[in-house]
Amino acid sequence: MKHKIKHWLGRIQVHLMRRLAPKTMHVLQDQPVISFTFDDVPDSALYNGAAILEKYGLRGTFYITGNMSGTTEPDRQLISESGIRALADRGHEVGCHTFSHPNIAALSGAQLQNEIDNNRSFLDRVLGKLSNGHSAKLNFAYPYNAVSYFSIRRLARNYRTCRAGEDRVNRGATNPQMLYGVEIGQPETKALARTQMIDAVKAQPGWLIFFTHDISDTPTPYGCTPETFERLVQYAVQSGCTILTVDEALNNYMPQQAA
Ligand SMILES: [Zn+2]
Repeated sequence: MKHKIKHWLGRIQVHLMRRLAPKTMHVLQDQPVISFTFDDVPDSALYNGAAILEKYGLRGTFYITGNMSGTTEPDRQLISESGIRALADRGHEVGCHTFSHPNIAALSGAQLQNEIDNNRSFLDRVLGKLSNGHSAKLNFAYPYNAVSYFSIRRLARNYRTCRAGEDRVNRGATNPQMLYGVEIGQPETKALARTQMIDAVKAQPGWLIFFTHDISDTPTPYGCTPETFERLVQYAVQSGCTILTVDEALNNYMPQQAA
């Protein structure tokens, strides 16, 4: 029952975001753009995910959860602080995924602000004030893709954009706190079939933001194998779509903002 209530509260917030949230950015529909993003971030997203992108001269966006860094879970290892530095040094975008990975729809304003501030302090310490060429505001991804309509203003003050799920392509008038994302997860056949989303964005241009987690030979339900990930990257390259980090893509869609 509790789970059901949570589910419907989540759906209501998605609905409010779609209907009422101000659509202040415009995703151009003249060229297909694809971004590859990673949440949490497992270390295999660096060792395999970033390495595969780099093989094709590409970069990705990695939404870091500070207090997971360096921890070990039964089925995955989370990226270390030196791993986060390696991502930034190699030209990848580092974004925020809260500090402790809560469902932010269940947080008070003060609790959400703590999540924002703690992760910012963590990344400032690890990366040295983020003076690595990114815009002053980081990009954000919602834990569990759980959007929070009532937090829009706070999120907008702190982040350039926020990414959710919904398995849709972004096109036209868009709310920057409700970017749609398309999951690359298990089963492997479903992950491989994501080439259909690449076909879709090529046929009707917009911005396709993929998100995944671990890129591992024994993937969790939320990741895929290196072979499948490379197949998708290769397919995206061959499709002729422009492949950019989230922050780079935004430079086409919304003016750079001061901190
Ligand atoms: Zn997450």
